Amino acid sequence: MIEVSAKLERSGFALDVDVACKPGVIGLFGPSGSGKTTLARIIAGFEEPQTGEISFDCQPLYSTKQCINLKPHLRRVGYVFQDTRLFPHLTVGENISYGLRFQTSSPSIDFEELVSLLDLDGLLSKSPAALSGGEAQRVGFARAVMAHPKFLILDEPLSSLDQMRKYLVLKYLEKLKFRYEIPMLYITHDPSELFRIADSLVILESGKSLASAPLEDALGDPKFAAFLGVDALCRFVNAQVQEHLEGGLTRLSLGQQSLILAGLNAPVGARVRVRIPAQDVILAKGTLPLLSARNQLTAEVTDIQRGHGPGALITLSVDQQSLLVRVTAQALNELSLAVGDQCYALLKTLGFNARDVMI
Ligand code: ADP
Ligand code: MG
Repeated sequence: MIEVSAKLERSGFALDVDVACKPGVIGLFGPSGSGKTTLARIIAGFEEPQTGEISFDCQPLYSTKQCINLKPHLRRVGYVFQDTRLFPHLTVGENISYGLRFQTSSPSIDFEELVSLLDLDGLLSKSPAALSGGEAQRVGFARAVMAHPKFLILDEPLSSLDQMRKYLVLKYLEKLKFRYEIPMLYITHDPSELFRIADSLVILESGKSLASAPLEDALGDPKFAAFLGVDALCRFVNAQVQEHLEGGLTRLSLGQQSLILAGLNAPVGARVRVRIPAQDVILAKGTLPLLSARNQLTAEVTDIQRGHGPGALITLSVDQQSLLVRVTAQALNELSLAVGDQCYALLKTLGFNARDVMI
């Protein structure tokens, strides 16, 4: 458990946070200037709050009450910066082994294994200046992980990359997460980065921690949508690869029903988790005409929430799993849907993105 309460005031800005999160990957989300980096620097010990209590697994790193202020290197907090800050005079390999000098705990991290996990084998003798943005970030991750930190802070590491590169680099971060189980604070102002990597979410706005929740609860909660944007609303469903079909498609079983996606690179029987964005689901009632949508799931309406704007949020039960659907209030009226009604949830196969499927 990481627990942070801290207050810091500087001209025109006040930070006042109080958060407690289980380890795993904590997504820290907030607009630019909301105090994310300030909070990260306080946790790492680069900046001192006016008052605060910071502990990790009940061990205090900073405590006004107990007069504790551990020096940054004793906190064993790793920090990956947006601009990587690799040492330009060292090769990639030397940059990564630089982390070794901070490694005190055993079992230690194996250099070769880490390098191969991040596909950096071919880059070791290169200079950081010769790397692409995504490669440089992977080297930054490797250097930080090599020091085997107790906690790793990643401060907007992907914000200079385009969406496609972000996704590719996030896959490497996901590998690190599962291989080394180092608790992380992942800072971003892009909700799409959170879907894959975060386990819980903390919202920071104008220096205040406004809300925190497990990621999947937050992504289905209209309260969080006020910060993340309504297009981030979604649900995750569990499914299993049932068969690979002709035409480059894969059929997943979703209880008694199936979900057809573009071909997945996973064996039959593999368990997957699929993110279904609320705005991508179309609702239908009655007898269906011929439709291009490959996924026509039978569902039951379990909840309806009308918002103040044009949209309404409907929760469906599909074979004991839940889907969230965002449609206009006008459509809801026209379909005259009520809790307990049967309907169809229509999903386009090609509407799914590889980023939405966790294998
Ligand atoms: P974020 O990382 O969310 O963009 P920051 O923590 O960098 O936010 O900044 C929070 C506020 O503190 C902003 O108003 C910023 O201008 C201000 N700030 C950041 N660093 C300093 C500093 N070293 N001295 C004075 N003000 C700063
Ligand atoms: Mg920042």
